[in-house]
Amino acid sequence: MVQARPWQPGYVVTYALQVTEVDPITKNVLSVVCCMCKYHGRELTLGAVRKRKQTHKFKFWSGPWHIDLMLQHNKEQHPLKWAEYEALSQGEKKVFYATLISHNNALYRYFKIDGDVLEFVLSRSIVDIIIGKLMFRPDDELAEIEDEDPDIIVVSRSAKIAKLRRHAMSLFKANDDVDDDESRAYKVEIKIVKRFQLAIQFVSAGMSFKQVAVAIGHVQRTLSSAKLIGINDHIIGQYIRVFIAVTIQKIAFLL
Ligand SMILES: [Zn+2]
Repeated sequence: MVQARPWQPGYVVTYALQVTEVDPITKNVLSVVCCMCKYHGRELTLGAVRKRKQTHKFKFWSGPWHIDLMLQHNKEQHPLKWAEYEALSQGEKKVFYATLISHNNALYRYFKIDGDVLEFVLSRSIVDIIIGKLMFRPDDELAEIEDEDPDIIVVSRSAKIAKLRRHAMSLFKANDDVDDDESRAYKVEIKIVKRFQLAIQFVSAGMSFKQVAVAIGHVQRTLSSAKLIGINDHIIGQYIRVFIAVTIQKIAFLL
């Protein structure tokens, strides 16, 4: 075994690592995780006789730092991904996991989506003004339903808009648990967390609400998952309104 070395910041990019623990006083790196385990999983080695059952655990490293063992882990557990990574330029390597890390942090740090139900409490100004007014464009909403059904007779435009607004905002319920607290005036409960999670991820990948509804339908049929049944682009719109409201509220707390 090659002798252990002191930590070098360049290891992060060279060996595809993410720092997970830093000493609060000395700022020394205490532990790192293998990005390939974290974001891609270990690769199955076909035909190889395994001494032990394949693990799905992430590989963490802590000092003293044995770069030969890190290299060996990458080559043995991630042969394809490691070959792909090694072929990248230094500049490409620097952004390769940085993009994934920030994307995952944005979603998962702020949305603890591993429970059965998601609950959010939101302020009146964010829901009423930003989501209810700025993010609701009556002309676009009306044009869409008229496109879907040209024979529709809009008897009362304002009544139709009010109905569309109610529908778009239907996940935001008055928070009866508190009296007159503007900062906690609304609450949202997402009961099908996996469906919400997929919707947010697909929209953040650049898909339209209609495409997302179709894609989740494919996932539902492929996995025979009853929990994903019944999605449509209107529900995706409701989810995205919730996601934006929660994100804005998080930003407001940070400022
Ligand atoms: Zn790994």
